[in-house]
Amino acid sequence: MNCWHCDRPAYGSCRFCGRGVCKEHTKTLPHIEELYRDDRGMHKALVVADALWCGVCQPREDPVELPQLK
Ligand SMILES: [Zn+2]
Ligand SMILES: [Zn+2]
Repeated sequence: MNCWHCDRPAYGSCRFCGRGVCKEHTKTLPHIEELYRDDRGMHKALVVADALWCGVCQPREDPVELPQLK
């Protein structure tokens, strides 16, 4: 797999869309690792602050609130 931006060998793949990115073009974004409900039934999310991101795709911002989730 090569970098989406420069076609050199990829350093990793985007956590959100799977595109390859080299070290130079790697960006980071918060990423939800796990969703769960706490003791009071509130939806919570475990978020990694600097997940690998390609810089191309557009993950939804503010992914913590999921009121429709049952
Ligand atoms: Zn690159
Ligand atoms: Zn991406």
